Amino acid sequence: SERQYKAIASLTEEFTLSTAALEELTVEFIKQMNDGLAPPTSKSRKDLAMIPTYVFGRPDGHERGSYLALDLGGTNLRVCLITLKGNHELESHQKAFKVSEYLQHADVSQLMDFIAVSIKQFINTQHINAKIVEHSTNSDTLELGFTFSFPVTQTAIDAGRLLRWTKGFNCPGAVGNDIVQLLQAALDRNSVNVHVAALVNDTVGTLLAHSYKNPNTFIGAIFGTGTNGAYVEDTKNIQALPCSQEQEMIINIEWGNFDKEKTILPVTIYDNKLDRESINPGVHVFEKMISGMYLGEITRNILLHLIDQRLLFDGTSSPKLNKAWSFETEYMSKMELDSSATLIPIAQILEQRLDVQINTQVDREIVKHVCKLVGTRAARLSAVATAAVIRQGLQSGRLRDHGFPLKLNAQDEVSETLTANGLSDGNVTDHVINVGIDGSVYEHYPNFEKHMKSALTEILGSRTGDIVSLGIARDGSGVGAALAALIATKNT
Ligand code: ADP
Repeated sequence: SERQYKAIASLTEEFTLSTAALEELTVEFIKQMNDGLAPPTSKSRKDLAMIPTYVFGRPDGHERGSYLALDLGGTNLRVCLITLKGNHELESHQKAFKVSEYLQHADVSQLMDFIAVSIKQFINTQHINAKIVEHSTNSDTLELGFTFSFPVTQTAIDAGRLLRWTKGFNCPGAVGNDIVQLLQAALDRNSVNVHVAALVNDTVGTLLAHSYKNPNTFIGAIFGTGTNGAYVEDTKNIQALPCSQEQEMIINIEWGNFDKEKTILPVTIYDNKLDRESINPGVHVFEKMISGMYLGEITRNILLHLIDQRLLFDGTSSPKLNKAWSFETEYMSKMELDSSATLIPIAQILEQRLDVQINTQVDREIVKHVCKLVGTRAARLSAVATAAVIRQGLQSGRLRDHGFPLKLNAQDEVSETLTANGLSDGNVTDHVINVGIDGSVYEHYPNFEKHMKSALTEILGSRTGDIVSLGIARDGSGVGAALAALIATKNT
């Protein structure tokens, strides 16, 4: 109907980000990065925490040894034994443990005991024991790298205080305390002979792991339950950290919190509703527009708004659809993939998963369109963060002086030939900016990668496709944590 058409047109306008909007967001993102890098005394806003990780340098693929890795980031705890063989190769054994709903809200000592016992169970496996004996050094204490994917301020590679919980976790007794000490105490309490050598964010782990396989990795990014990124910065730019000699350090951006004051982010009433009803209102607004935990809920909010105006499902919702968080992001993937004429697969999700029994072909087309709007906006915002970090590197950081023909601002003209600034000389792989990416949204959401790449090209120019290489960093958190443990123990 005419009313439906109008409503969809106005939604489309609200959710579509123009090239000019992407550019503006990128400029603001770089500004907030630099505000975050400034000394802690400055009065500027610090939406981006820009956390120093004390990880100096990156692996080049020649590292060797066996290390334990622990990955806590979502609903799964993973324990891994990683054997680095050099030559970019490795072997990995792992076991996953489910972190129950109860533990996500229990006292942190209970959570840590659960982790310690899980590690004990893992290393008691005969098979794993043999592996360890084979590769261990003189001590029988295993060194462990802990991938802990929540915002932490670090004071050393093996010390960091939790700033706040995100992604549905809310365990009392953790915020403000040192996560390494909490875990080490639980390991000692449970007689587990393991030393926590390094604490890393999953983005840092992703960067390290991708770098082991692909030298010249500049960014590690996550688009999963949450979203965040880490990159390589010049220590001279990290004003929050007194550091004299020029070297590189990995910075955990905590980009989920970009523009929490909503000065420029194109938040809609649907985003605001979600934020208000989330466990962490007013923060991580950017993450709430991008990541898997939230996209389904934004979509649900839009659908309910259409239902309430009698523009969808004949004005009828279902108790299931009325329930917050009932619309999973995975449904959006399935709905977007449905290209059949009658959209019966969409009907099946609506009927079987959401108890919406009456849906017409037009209804299903509207639902699919709404999914596309929300998913595409997420991918384009993801490109903003990626492009901003690359520009930061090109303008004042580790990528400057390489002569990459990428746009530094909207007016910039980029060279169309690879010979510019000697780009045709030398090893071609030296002239690629690798981005290691982990997360189900990037990996499984239809067209997410395509939309992200096209937005990156809109921002950074026509040469982006040749220079910026987005790659899936498999098992970033396991291998990356092992590499961090190696870096930490080699440095002491
Ligand atoms: P985590 O970030 O927790 O380590 P994942 O990278 O698997 O784990 O991300 C999980 C998130 O991805 C969940 O929020 C889920 O809704 C979303 N997700 C899972 N499968 C898909 C899919 N096929 N399409 C889109 N999103 C998905």
